[in-house]
Amino acid sequence: MNEPDKKIIIVGAGIAGLTAAAYLSRAKYDVLLTEKNKEIGGLVNTIERDGFFFDTAARSIENSGIVKPFLYDLGINLEIMNSPISVGIESDVINIHSEESLGDYKNLLEKLYPEKIEDIQRIVSFMEKMMKDTATLYGIDNPLLKDLKKDKKFLFKELLPYLGKFLLTVRRMNRLNEPVEEFLEKMSSYRPLTDIIDQHFFKNTPTSFAMGYFYVYLDYIYPMGGTGQIPKAIGQKIIEWGGKIQTETEISKIIPSKNQVIDINGNLYPYDYLIWCADLKTLYKRLNTHNLDDKISRKIKEQKEKFVSHRGADSVFSLFLGVDEPLEKYESISHGHFFYTPSKKGLGELNRSILKSLIDNFENTPKEEILQWLDKFCKLNTYEISIPALRDSSLAPKGKTGLEISVLFDFDLFKKVQEASWYEEFKTEVENRILKTLSNSIYPDIEEKILFRFSFTPLSILNRVGSSEGAIVGWSYEKTPPVANSLLKIYSSVKTPIPKVLQAGQWTYSPAGIPIAILTGLLAAQKIIKNKI
Ligand SMILES: Cc1cc2nc3c(=O)[nH]c(=O)nc-3n(C[C@H](O)[C@H](O)[C@H](O)COP(=O)(O)OP(=O)(O)OC[C@H]3O[C@@H](n4cnc5c(N)ncnc54)[C@H](O)[C@@H]3O)c2cc1C
Repeated sequence: MNEPDKKIIIVGAGIAGLTAAAYLSRAKYDVLLTEKNKEIGGLVNTIERDGFFFDTAARSIENSGIVKPFLYDLGINLEIMNSPISVGIESDVINIHSEESLGDYKNLLEKLYPEKIEDIQRIVSFMEKMMKDTATLYGIDNPLLKDLKKDKKFLFKELLPYLGKFLLTVRRMNRLNEPVEEFLEKMSSYRPLTDIIDQHFFKNTPTSFAMGYFYVYLDYIYPMGGTGQIPKAIGQKIIEWGGKIQTETEISKIIPSKNQVIDINGNLYPYDYLIWCADLKTLYKRLNTHNLDDKISRKIKEQKEKFVSHRGADSVFSLFLGVDEPLEKYESISHGHFFYTPSKKGLGELNRSILKSLIDNFENTPKEEILQWLDKFCKLNTYEISIPALRDSSLAPKGKTGLEISVLFDFDLFKKVQEASWYEEFKTEVENRILKTLSNSIYPDIEEKILFRFSFTPLSILNRVGSSEGAIVGWSYEKTPPVANSLLKIYSSVKTPIPKVLQAGQWTYSPAGIPIAILTGLLAAQKIIKNKI
């Protein structure tokens, strides 16, 4: 049942909030989307600096059978291209073009670790199996984005024959939830080999996700103009359909007993339904539970305790460079999206027990010792490097190149450094070491060609989008997440114990990312449209 006169407030104009707002304004609800920043998009954003364009968060986007049909469903016509990936270790780089490229990856590992050929074969043949399962998962357009009443061809020719295979795959993948590090340890006792594979991923990434990732490499897409074109286009649709977007409006209080939210300037907004599309710890901390039924208050308290005791996933340090060198130089090295590890030695315990002990004893550890740790961390780590102009040449001035270089980085270490008042100095130390490492390996002498540079730390992410622990994909994998983590439960993932309040986005379901933010935004909107709250 459609109730178009209902007033809907959506908090957070990231991809999830934009998705929910688009579907509800298309269905003619009275929609107000509030966003604390000046710009919309949250963790999907493209900025310009001196003619260089940088994707400040997601570097490209996995289609996952969701993103392209979603844009099509909203009538958004962006020019979208495939975004091929390269993987490099030391001086060897492979370009990934098809499922057969897994063979090139195997050859690369065998060349680097000739004494571990049997282990490599075992690992790669498992990857091959998981790659097939991941392909099944993302194999067809997500039916939630299709009009099954009208599109009978899709229903009978694609969806129905696929369902059995899909359910079996989901079940099989759900059973492979153990952390990839532990799984790989059983496959090989040679730590450099297992590190070189698992240090691409967040700590304790589920095995099914990490080992099937080779398929995901083939599924990346990139819109002309940068990833920020997607939120921009959805925002335009919301306005076109009569929805309102109010930026620089941070919601600081939620009062469900009065169906009201209040922003930090004291402005009050009434709602019939609220969809919270931002950090969930923040929602529960800012929730006023006065005058709610006891049973509901108890459930809310339990939920709050669960959320507050969990951490966000890993964070990231990103360095952005304007370089006075032509694109051709970089084109001859890799594709525009590149995972590069300068050393085959692997991180070992550097990012685990050694880091933990550094953080636990931070106050008693001399600065030099922390910088020595940082030195090794930067030399042995894996970098995600993105070059927007290698996908759309208009994204950098002629004859020059913009690079985005990121590395997974611990939030707590940056927090400690900030508390000890050497945040800016440490940030520069990280930048210098990343540059030195890449200058000594894949990009000789890049240091001398830099026109400008700037960086974002885990604390920048916290400050910008309010993401707990600077997390970039929602909840940490280190404990079972406090939200749904099986696709079979995704429908109910958007419900909350708070009356008339739904949730959507990267904190709603785990593992998350852009496709899940879209899917949960859509599901929350549908719950309201179908009156199923
Ligand atoms: C470097 C990096 C690389 C990534 N790579 C990938 C990738 O390859 N693939 C992938 O799928 N995902 C990737 N991601 C993650 C992906 O970008 C996010 O998971 C996704 O964009 C989250 O969308 P969201 O709408 O749930 O949340 P967000 O984008 O965090 O949006 C939440 C919005 O709410 C606003 N907000 C917060 N609190 C309030 C408040 N109180 N009042 C009003 N507004 C508020 C915030 O400002 C923000 O705009 C990456 C992220 C980063 C940072």
